[in-house]
Amino acid sequence: MKPFVYNGLPSRVIFGAGSIAQLPAELDRLGAKRALLLSTPEQKESVLLLKKTLGERCAGVYDKAVMHVPVEVAEDARRAAKELGADCCVTVGGGSTTGLGKAIALTSTLPILAVPTTYAGSEMTPIYGLTEGGLKKTGRDARVLPKTVLYDPNLTLSLPAALSAASGMNAIAHCVEALYAVDANPVVSLMAEEGIRALAVSLPKIKLNLQDIEARSEALYGAWLSGVALGAAGMALHHKLCHVLGGFGLPHAETHSVVLPHAMRYNRDAAQEAMARIARAVNSNDAPGAVWDLESRLGIAMSLKEIGMKEADIERAAKIATEAPYPNPRKVEFGPVLELLRAAWEGRRPAG
Ligand code: NAD
Repeated sequence: MKPFVYNGLPSRVIFGAGSIAQLPAELDRLGAKRALLLSTPEQKESVLLLKKTLGERCAGVYDKAVMHVPVEVAEDARRAAKELGADCCVTVGGGSTTGLGKAIALTSTLPILAVPTTYAGSEMTPIYGLTEGGLKKTGRDARVLPKTVLYDPNLTLSLPAALSAASGMNAIAHCVEALYAVDANPVVSLMAEEGIRALAVSLPKIKLNLQDIEARSEALYGAWLSGVALGAAGMALHHKLCHVLGGFGLPHAETHSVVLPHAMRYNRDAAQEAMARIARAVNSNDAPGAVWDLESRLGIAMSLKEIGMKEADIERAAKIATEAPYPNPRKVEFGPVLELLRAAWEGRRPAG
Protein backbone atom coordinates (compact mmCIF):
# COMPACT_ATOMS: atom_id res chain seq x y z
CA MET A 1 0.00 0.00 0.00
CA LYS A 2 1.28 3.49 -0.93
CA PRO A 3 1.67 6.05 1.89
CA PHE A 4 -1.19 8.55 2.05
CA VAL A 5 -2.65 11.51 3.93
CA TYR A 6 -6.29 11.54 5.01
CA ASN A 7 -7.96 14.80 6.10
CA GLY A 8 -11.45 14.19 7.47
CA LEU A 9 -13.67 17.28 7.09
CA PRO A 10 -16.01 18.03 10.00
CA SER A 11 -19.68 18.11 9.11
CA ARG A 12 -22.85 16.69 10.60
CA VAL A 13 -25.12 14.82 8.18
CA ILE A 14 -28.79 14.03 8.74
CA PHE A 15 -30.14 11.77 6.04
CA GLY A 16 -33.62 10.45 5.29
CA ALA A 17 -37.01 11.11 3.72
CA GLY A 18 -38.80 13.66 5.90
CA SER A 19 -35.64 14.83 7.66
CA ILE A 20 -36.44 18.48 6.79
CA ALA A 21 -38.72 18.32 9.86
CA GLN A 22 -35.54 18.33 11.94
CA LEU A 23 -34.52 21.78 10.70
CA PRO A 24 -35.61 23.67 13.86
CA ALA A 25 -33.80 21.19 16.14
CA GLU A 26 -30.68 21.41 13.98
CA LEU A 27 -30.78 25.23 14.14
CA ASP A 28 -30.94 24.91 17.93
CA ARG A 29 -27.88 22.71 17.86
CA LEU A 30 -26.01 25.44 15.98
CA GLY A 31 -27.28 28.03 18.47
CA ALA A 32 -28.95 29.91 15.59
CA LYS A 33 -31.94 32.14 16.32
CA ARG A 34 -32.24 34.13 13.07
CA ALA A 35 -31.78 32.01 9.97
CA LEU A 36 -31.55 33.57 6.52
CA LEU A 37 -33.11 31.22 3.96
CA LEU A 38 -31.41 31.21 0.55
CA SER A 39 -32.80 29.94 -2.76
CA THR A 40 -32.97 30.54 -6.48
CA PRO A 41 -36.02 32.42 -7.83
CA GLU A 42 -37.27 29.05 -9.17
CA GLN A 43 -37.30 27.46 -5.71
CA LYS A 44 -38.73 30.43 -3.84
CA GLU A 45 -42.12 28.77 -3.25
CA SER A 46 -40.71 25.79 -1.35
CA VAL A 47 -38.53 28.10 0.74
CA LEU A 48 -41.52 30.27 1.64
CA LEU A 49 -43.16 27.14 3.10
CA LEU A 50 -40.09 26.61 5.28
CA LYS A 51 -40.22 30.26 6.34
CA LYS A 52 -43.74 29.65 7.65
CA THR A 53 -42.56 26.61 9.64
CA LEU A 54 -39.68 28.54 11.18
CA GLY A 55 -41.78 31.55 12.17
CA GLU A 56 -39.76 34.10 14.15
CA ARG A 57 -36.58 32.09 13.77
CA CYS A 58 -36.47 33.05 10.10
CA ALA A 59 -34.68 36.38 9.62
CA GLY A 60 -35.78 36.53 5.98
CA VAL A 61 -35.59 34.96 2.54
CA TYR A 62 -33.04 35.86 -0.13
CA ASP A 63 -34.12 34.26 -3.39
CA LYS A 64 -31.68 35.60 -5.99
CA ALA A 65 -29.14 32.78 -6.16
CA VAL A 66 -27.90 32.14 -9.72
CA MET A 67 -25.30 29.91 -11.36
CA HIS A 68 -21.60 30.55 -10.58
CA VAL A 69 -22.18 33.20 -7.85
CA PRO A 70 -21.65 36.59 -9.57
CA VAL A 71 -19.80 38.86 -7.16
CA GLU A 72 -22.60 41.49 -7.34
CA VAL A 73 -25.15 38.90 -6.12
CA ALA A 74 -22.76 37.78 -3.37
CA GLU A 75 -22.37 41.37 -2.17
CA ASP A 76 -26.10 42.00 -2.27
CA ALA A 77 -26.75 38.81 -0.26
CA ARG A 78 -24.06 39.72 2.30
CA ARG A 79 -25.69 43.12 2.73
CA ALA A 80 -29.12 41.49 3.19
CA ALA A 81 -27.73 39.05 5.80
CA LYS A 82 -26.26 41.96 7.75
CA GLU A 83 -29.36 44.16 7.53
CA LEU A 84 -31.62 41.31 8.66
CA GLY A 85 -29.35 40.44 11.57
CA ALA A 86 -28.98 36.83 10.41
CA ASP A 87 -26.88 34.49 12.53
CA CYS A 88 -26.98 31.50 10.16
CA CYS A 89 -27.61 30.72 6.46
CA VAL A 90 -29.92 27.90 5.44
CA THR A 91 -29.29 27.08 1.77
CA VAL A 92 -32.10 25.17 0.08
CA GLY A 93 -31.15 24.15 -3.46
CA GLY A 94 -28.36 22.98 -5.71
CA GLY A 95 -24.76 24.09 -6.06
CA SER A 96 -25.73 27.65 -7.02
CA THR A 97 -27.62 28.24 -3.77
CA THR A 98 -25.04 26.47 -1.61
CA GLY A 99 -22.42 28.59 -3.39
CA LEU A 100 -24.19 31.81 -2.41
CA GLY A 101 -24.27 30.67 1.22
CA LYS A 102 -20.54 30.02 0.98
CA ALA A 103 -19.94 33.54 -0.36
CA ILE A 104 -21.71 34.94 2.72
CA ALA A 105 -19.85 32.61 5.11
CA LEU A 106 -16.51 33.57 3.58
CA THR A 107 -16.72 37.17 4.78
CA SER A 108 -19.05 36.88 7.77
CA THR A 109 -18.25 33.47 9.31
CA LEU A 110 -22.02 32.80 9.56
CA PRO A 111 -22.50 29.02 9.81
CA ILE A 112 -24.25 27.28 6.91
CA LEU A 113 -26.92 24.64 7.29
CA ALA A 114 -27.25 23.14 3.80
CA VAL A 115 -30.32 21.42 2.40
CA PRO A 116 -29.19 20.08 -1.00
CA THR A 117 -31.83 19.43 -3.65
CA THR A 118 -29.55 18.36 -6.55
CA TYR A 119 -26.62 15.94 -6.71
CA ALA A 120 -23.84 18.55 -7.20
CA GLY A 121 -22.16 17.84 -3.84
CA SER A 122 -21.02 21.38 -2.97
CA GLU A 123 -22.46 21.01 0.56
CA MET A 124 -19.64 18.64 1.54
CA THR A 125 -16.74 20.77 0.30
CA PRO A 126 -14.75 23.76 1.57
CA ILE A 127 -14.55 24.96 -2.06
CA TYR A 128 -16.17 28.25 -3.07
CA GLY A 129 -16.45 30.04 -6.41
CA LEU A 130 -17.12 33.66 -7.31
CA THR A 131 -17.52 35.15 -10.78
CA GLU A 132 -16.30 38.63 -11.59
CA GLY A 133 -16.30 40.13 -15.07
CA GLY A 134 -17.15 36.73 -16.57
CA LEU A 135 -14.18 35.06 -14.88
CA LYS A 136 -14.86 32.40 -12.23
CA LYS A 137 -12.32 32.09 -9.44
CA THR A 138 -12.41 29.23 -6.97
CA GLY A 139 -10.74 28.82 -3.61
CA ARG A 140 -10.74 26.65 -0.51
CA ASP A 141 -11.56 27.94 2.96
CA ALA A 142 -12.66 25.98 6.03
CA ARG A 143 -15.17 28.75 6.88
CA VAL A 144 -17.39 27.89 3.91
CA LEU A 145 -17.86 24.20 4.73
CA PRO A 146 -21.48 23.76 5.91
CA LYS A 147 -21.65 22.80 9.58
CA THR A 148 -24.77 20.69 9.11
CA VAL A 149 -26.22 19.03 6.01
CA LEU A 150 -29.81 17.87 5.90
CA TYR A 151 -30.36 15.38 3.05
CA ASP A 152 -34.07 14.88 2.48
CA PRO A 153 -34.80 12.85 -0.70
CA ASN A 154 -38.41 14.15 -0.67
CA LEU A 155 -37.03 17.55 -1.70
CA THR A 156 -35.42 16.02 -4.80
CA LEU A 157 -38.67 14.54 -6.18
CA SER A 158 -39.31 17.77 -8.11
CA LEU A 159 -35.88 17.78 -9.80
CA PRO A 160 -36.72 17.37 -13.53
CA ALA A 161 -35.50 14.28 -15.43
CA ALA A 162 -32.83 16.04 -17.50
CA LEU A 163 -31.39 17.87 -14.49
CA SER A 164 -31.48 14.72 -12.34
CA ALA A 165 -29.47 12.84 -14.94
CA ALA A 166 -26.93 15.59 -15.65
CA SER A 167 -26.50 16.45 -11.98
CA GLY A 168 -26.08 12.75 -11.13
CA MET A 169 -23.37 12.42 -13.78
CA ASN A 170 -21.69 15.53 -12.34
CA ALA A 171 -21.55 13.64 -9.03
CA ILE A 172 -20.11 10.54 -10.73
CA ALA A 173 -17.41 12.79 -12.24
CA HIS A 174 -16.31 13.89 -8.74
CA CYS A 175 -15.96 10.23 -7.72
CA VAL A 176 -14.08 9.25 -10.90
CA GLU A 177 -11.46 11.96 -10.49
CA ALA A 178 -11.08 11.30 -6.74
CA LEU A 179 -10.11 7.73 -7.64
CA TYR A 180 -7.12 8.82 -9.73
CA ALA A 181 -6.27 12.06 -7.89
CA VAL A 182 -2.63 12.73 -6.93
CA ASP A 183 -3.77 12.79 -3.31
CA ALA A 184 -6.13 9.80 -3.57
CA ASN A 185 -6.36 7.67 -0.45
CA PRO A 186 -7.99 4.31 0.28
CA VAL A 187 -10.76 5.72 2.51
CA VAL A 188 -11.98 8.31 0.02
CA SER A 189 -11.61 5.73 -2.77
CA LEU A 190 -14.05 3.44 -0.94
CA MET A 191 -16.56 6.28 -0.81
CA ALA A 192 -15.98 7.24 -4.44
CA GLU A 193 -16.52 3.71 -5.72
CA GLU A 194 -19.67 3.32 -3.64
CA GLY A 195 -20.88 6.75 -4.86
CA ILE A 196 -20.52 5.67 -8.51
CA ARG A 197 -22.34 2.39 -7.81
CA ALA A 198 -25.22 4.08 -5.99
CA LEU A 199 -25.72 6.68 -8.74
CA ALA A 200 -25.29 4.26 -11.66
CA VAL A 201 -28.00 2.01 -10.19
CA SER A 202 -30.44 4.75 -9.20
CA LEU A 203 -30.31 7.25 -12.10
CA PRO A 204 -31.95 4.92 -14.68
CA LYS A 205 -34.72 4.17 -12.13
CA ILE A 206 -35.28 7.90 -11.61
CA LYS A 207 -35.57 8.39 -15.38
CA LEU A 208 -38.38 5.81 -15.40
CA ASN A 209 -40.15 7.27 -12.38
CA LEU A 210 -39.19 10.67 -10.95
CA GLN A 211 -41.21 9.87 -7.80
CA ASP A 212 -39.31 6.64 -6.97
CA ILE A 213 -38.32 7.58 -3.42
CA GLU A 214 -36.01 4.56 -2.99
CA ALA A 215 -34.04 5.51 -6.12
CA ARG A 216 -34.07 9.20 -5.12
CA SER A 217 -32.66 8.21 -1.71
CA GLU A 218 -29.91 6.10 -3.23
CA ALA A 219 -28.97 8.87 -5.68
CA LEU A 220 -28.79 11.43 -2.86
CA TYR A 221 -26.65 9.02 -0.83
CA GLY A 222 -24.34 8.72 -3.88
CA ALA A 223 -24.29 12.51 -4.18
CA TRP A 224 -23.23 12.81 -0.54
CA LEU A 225 -20.32 10.43 -1.13
CA SER A 226 -19.38 12.30 -4.30
CA GLY A 227 -19.31 15.58 -2.39
CA VAL A 228 -16.99 14.04 0.20
CA ALA A 229 -14.76 12.81 -2.64
CA LEU A 230 -14.70 16.27 -4.27
CA GLY A 231 -13.87 17.95 -0.96
CA ALA A 232 -11.15 15.48 0.00
CA ALA A 233 -9.19 14.87 -3.19
CA GLY A 234 -7.70 17.16 -5.83
CA MET A 235 -9.41 17.07 -9.20
CA ALA A 236 -7.71 16.44 -12.55
CA LEU A 237 -8.12 16.95 -16.33
CA HIS A 238 -11.89 16.43 -16.40
CA HIS A 239 -12.63 19.18 -13.88
CA LYS A 240 -10.10 21.49 -15.54
CA LEU A 241 -11.81 21.04 -18.91
CA CYS A 242 -15.25 21.66 -17.40
CA HIS A 243 -13.98 24.78 -15.66
CA VAL A 244 -12.57 26.08 -18.95
CA LEU A 245 -15.76 25.22 -20.87
CA GLY A 246 -17.83 26.95 -18.15
CA GLY A 247 -15.95 30.10 -19.14
CA PHE A 248 -17.40 29.67 -22.65
CA GLY A 249 -20.87 29.87 -21.11
CA LEU A 250 -21.71 26.14 -21.26
CA PRO A 251 -24.12 24.78 -18.61
CA HIS A 252 -22.35 23.23 -15.60
CA ALA A 253 -23.89 19.78 -15.05
CA GLU A 254 -24.41 19.02 -18.77
CA THR A 255 -20.79 19.91 -19.57
CA HIS A 256 -19.64 17.47 -16.89
CA SER A 257 -21.73 14.65 -18.31
CA VAL A 258 -20.60 15.20 -21.91
CA VAL A 259 -16.89 15.46 -21.09
CA LEU A 260 -16.65 12.67 -18.49
CA PRO A 261 -16.39 9.52 -20.68
CA HIS A 262 -13.86 11.27 -22.92
CA ALA A 263 -11.68 12.42 -20.01
CA MET A 264 -11.85 8.85 -18.65
CA ARG A 265 -10.75 7.44 -22.02
CA TYR A 266 -7.85 9.92 -22.03
CA ASN A 267 -6.69 8.67 -18.62
CA ARG A 268 -7.67 5.02 -19.00
CA ASP A 269 -4.25 3.45 -19.46
CA ALA A 270 -2.51 5.75 -16.97
CA ALA A 271 -5.01 5.07 -14.17
CA GLN A 272 -5.66 1.36 -14.35
CA GLU A 273 -6.48 0.77 -10.68
CA ALA A 274 -9.07 3.59 -10.71
CA MET A 275 -10.57 2.29 -13.97
CA ALA A 276 -10.88 -1.20 -12.44
CA ARG A 277 -12.82 0.24 -9.49
CA ILE A 278 -15.08 2.31 -11.76
CA ALA A 279 -15.68 -0.71 -14.01
CA ARG A 280 -16.64 -2.75 -10.92
CA ALA A 281 -19.01 0.01 -9.78
CA VAL A 282 -20.79 0.13 -13.15
CA ASN A 283 -20.64 -3.64 -13.67
CA SER A 284 -18.64 -3.62 -16.91
CA ASN A 285 -15.07 -4.19 -18.04
CA ASP A 286 -14.88 -0.99 -20.09
CA ALA A 287 -15.24 1.97 -17.69
CA PRO A 288 -15.32 4.90 -20.22
CA GLY A 289 -17.63 3.01 -22.60
CA ALA A 290 -19.97 1.96 -19.78
CA VAL A 291 -20.23 5.56 -18.50
CA TRP A 292 -21.03 6.76 -22.05
CA ASP A 293 -23.68 4.00 -22.37
CA LEU A 294 -25.21 4.95 -19.01
CA GLU A 295 -25.51 8.56 -20.18
CA SER A 296 -27.10 7.63 -23.47
CA ARG A 297 -29.62 5.43 -21.58
CA LEU A 298 -30.44 8.45 -19.42
CA GLY A 299 -31.25 10.41 -22.58
CA ILE A 300 -29.07 13.42 -21.81
CA ALA A 301 -27.09 15.59 -24.21
CA MET A 302 -24.11 13.61 -25.49
CA SER A 303 -22.14 16.29 -27.35
CA LEU A 304 -20.69 19.73 -26.66
CA LYS A 305 -22.25 20.77 -29.96
CA GLU A 306 -25.75 20.07 -28.54
CA ILE A 307 -25.16 22.16 -25.43
CA GLY A 308 -24.06 25.21 -27.37
CA MET A 309 -20.31 25.02 -27.98
CA LYS A 310 -19.10 26.48 -31.26
CA GLU A 311 -16.73 24.31 -33.30
CA ALA A 312 -14.44 27.32 -33.70
CA ASP A 313 -13.89 27.40 -29.91
CA ILE A 314 -12.52 23.84 -29.61
CA GLU A 315 -8.92 24.80 -30.31
CA ARG A 316 -8.97 27.78 -27.94
CA ALA A 317 -10.45 25.61 -25.17
CA ALA A 318 -7.72 22.97 -25.69
CA LYS A 319 -5.08 25.70 -25.52
CA ILE A 320 -6.39 27.19 -22.25
CA ALA A 321 -6.86 23.75 -20.67
CA THR A 322 -3.29 22.72 -21.40
CA GLU A 323 -1.60 25.99 -20.39
CA ALA A 324 -1.84 25.46 -16.62
CA PRO A 325 -3.13 21.90 -16.20
CA TYR A 326 -4.21 20.30 -12.91
CA PRO A 327 -2.14 17.26 -11.89
CA ASN A 328 -3.37 14.33 -14.00
CA PRO A 329 -2.44 10.64 -14.31
CA ARG A 330 -1.58 11.06 -18.02
CA LYS A 331 0.50 14.02 -19.22
CA VAL A 332 -1.80 16.81 -20.39
CA GLU A 333 -0.80 17.70 -23.96
CA PHE A 334 -2.40 19.95 -26.55
CA GLY A 335 -2.75 17.41 -29.40
CA PRO A 336 -4.46 14.62 -27.41
CA VAL A 337 -6.63 17.13 -25.48
CA LEU A 338 -7.73 18.66 -28.78
CA GLU A 339 -8.68 15.17 -29.99
CA LEU A 340 -10.58 14.56 -26.69
CA LEU A 341 -12.53 17.80 -27.10
CA ARG A 342 -13.29 17.05 -30.75
CA ALA A 343 -14.72 13.64 -29.80
CA ALA A 344 -16.78 15.28 -27.02
CA TRP A 345 -17.97 18.01 -29.39
CA GLU A 346 -19.15 15.42 -31.89
CA GLY A 347 -20.52 13.10 -29.18
CA ARG A 348 -18.67 9.97 -30.34
CA ARG A 349 -18.58 6.88 -28.08
CA PRO A 350 -15.03 6.60 -26.67
CA ALA A 351 -13.02 3.93 -28.49
CA GLY A 352 -12.63 0.66 -26.52
P1 NAD B 1 -28.17 24.74 -9.71
O1 NAD B 1 -28.00 24.88 -8.26
O2 NAD B 1 -27.76 25.90 -10.59
O3 NAD B 1 -29.69 24.36 -10.01
C1 NAD B 1 -30.14 24.29 -11.36
C2 NAD B 1 -31.64 24.65 -11.40
O4 NAD B 1 -32.38 23.60 -10.80
C3 NAD B 1 -31.99 25.92 -10.62
O5 NAD B 1 -32.97 26.62 -11.33
C4 NAD B 1 -32.57 25.36 -9.33
O6 NAD B 1 -33.47 26.24 -8.71
C5 NAD B 1 -33.27 24.12 -9.83
N1 NAD B 1 -33.45 23.08 -8.81
C6 NAD B 1 -32.54 22.64 -7.91
N2 NAD B 1 -33.07 21.66 -7.17
C7 NAD B 1 -34.35 21.47 -7.60
C8 NAD B 1 -35.38 20.59 -7.23
N3 NAD B 1 -35.22 19.65 -6.30
N4 NAD B 1 -36.56 20.70 -7.87
C9 NAD B 1 -36.73 21.59 -8.87
N5 NAD B 1 -35.78 22.44 -9.28
C10 NAD B 1 -34.60 22.38 -8.64
O7 NAD B 1 -27.41 23.46 -10.30
P2 NAD B 1 -26.27 22.51 -9.68
O8 NAD B 1 -25.84 21.66 -10.81
O9 NAD B 1 -26.74 21.87 -8.44
O10 NAD B 1 -25.12 23.51 -9.26
C11 NAD B 1 -24.24 24.08 -10.20
C12 NAD B 1 -23.33 25.10 -9.55
O11 NAD B 1 -22.73 24.55 -8.39
C13 NAD B 1 -22.19 25.53 -10.45
O12 NAD B 1 -21.97 26.91 -10.31
C14 NAD B 1 -21.00 24.75 -9.92
O13 NAD B 1 -19.77 25.36 -10.22
C15 NAD B 1 -21.31 24.71 -8.45
N6 NAD B 1 -20.70 23.59 -7.74
C16 NAD B 1 -19.83 23.90 -6.75
C17 NAD B 1 -19.23 22.88 -6.02
C18 NAD B 1 -18.28 23.21 -4.89
O14 NAD B 1 -17.79 22.32 -4.22
N7 NAD B 1 -18.03 24.47 -4.64
C19 NAD B 1 -19.53 21.53 -6.31
C20 NAD B 1 -20.44 21.26 -7.32
C21 NAD B 1 -21.03 22.30 -8.04
